[in-house]
Amino acid sequence: MTSPVWHPFTQHGLNEPVPLVTHAEGAALYTADGRRVIDAISSWWVTTHGHCHPKIMAAIREQAEKLDQLIFAGWTHEPAETVARELVALMPRPLDHVFFSDSGSTSVEVALKMALGHFANRGEAKNGWRHRIVVMADSYHGDTVGGMSVGARGVFNKSYAPLLFDVDVIPFPQAGAEQASIDAFERLCADRPAALIVEPLLLGAGGMRMYPAHVLKALRELCAAHGVLFIADEVMTGWGRTGTLLACEQAGVVPDLLCLSKGLTGGSLPLAVTMATPAIFESHRSTDRAKMFFHSSSYTANPIACAAAAANLAIWRDEPVLERVADLGRRQAAHARALEGKVNNLRQLGTIVAMELEDRAGAYLSSLGPKLMTFFRERDVLLRPLGNTVYVMPPYCISDDDLAGIYAVIGEALDL
Ligand SMILES: *Cc1c(COP(=O)(O)O)cnc(C)c1O
Repeated sequence: MTSPVWHPFTQHGLNEPVPLVTHAEGAALYTADGRRVIDAISSWWVTTHGHCHPKIMAAIREQAEKLDQLIFAGWTHEPAETVARELVALMPRPLDHVFFSDSGSTSVEVALKMALGHFANRGEAKNGWRHRIVVMADSYHGDTVGGMSVGARGVFNKSYAPLLFDVDVIPFPQAGAEQASIDAFERLCADRPAALIVEPLLLGAGGMRMYPAHVLKALRELCAAHGVLFIADEVMTGWGRTGTLLACEQAGVVPDLLCLSKGLTGGSLPLAVTMATPAIFESHRSTDRAKMFFHSSSYTANPIACAAAAANLAIWRDEPVLERVADLGRRQAAHARALEGKVNNLRQLGTIVAMELEDRAGAYLSSLGPKLMTFFRERDVLLRPLGNTVYVMPPYCISDDDLAGIYAVIGEALDL
């Protein structure tokens, strides 16, 4: 019998095997047919400390005994209060307000709605001003309609193009042409857009493309100078991935709106937040109900997910996470050095190493990607190339042996 499950980003017509995983620990996945698979992409970029972290699992178990779910409109619970308080303490000022949702895509939708609500409530959205969104070419911000609208257009969303809203696009800051992106944004600022949304320093789904901190800083400064809200989508880059808690830190910038998800619960349960400055909160605060922030989903701030996030925040507070991140960065760099000259465009940011296995001619659907994925899967390594871009983004707890195992199969793949 075939399974009724319809998988995401999966072409069922190709009949590729779908491994059945029964349990996981650290950087390892265990399958029903007895294999131990190294999770080299942190189960799609979410698992930070490692799978089934004992402290996070304990927090989930404990919370499940007390309160499973609660309406969050006008009601509250301790796990959400703890997470909000600790996020405000951990993240840069003045991101003093925390709005919960359940996925990275939704945290982006929330940020976009807050940006437009901000200007509408202040009476500044008029004459075509303060309602357009500026985006960076080749970005990814999620698969909901708003997320797709502010992300790269391509084969992933071609069929849905009639649903997407229009945005202004600045070029990706290519090495040597960074100023062109900055200049393009400055020109667009004259039309008074509402917000600029970026993935700081690293376009994840866009091919693990990296750009320098000074560009991020220049874009942020232009936003401030022109009254444009700066939205940092750190859904992927947050929680130590790039070597610092937030990628924005490396540019010394603080956004007006910050989107966090993936590693927020250590990668254990779905949860997201959009953090906002007092100015944005205040523009929605009023005795006029028409100015409230009109957004909710049934499971907003689910108590069990919040308990997992609180446990993650405690790990960040009590354990040397950034030292582990730095250590993984050094170990990644050593493996990357051994590949120099054998792959194209070898690059690293923090815990992430990426490379192209042949000239970057084909895009996402290049035939090499699926071929590589199968090759790696058959060798018990979970890698999911983006076209011919192979990247290694393991949980921070990965052992030297497992990391070496990942690079051994990449080495083998070079002979394909
Ligand atoms: C993964 C990702 C999202 C979407 O998050 P989901 O939880 O999958 O909805 C948004 N932005 C960036 C930068 C991401 O990497």
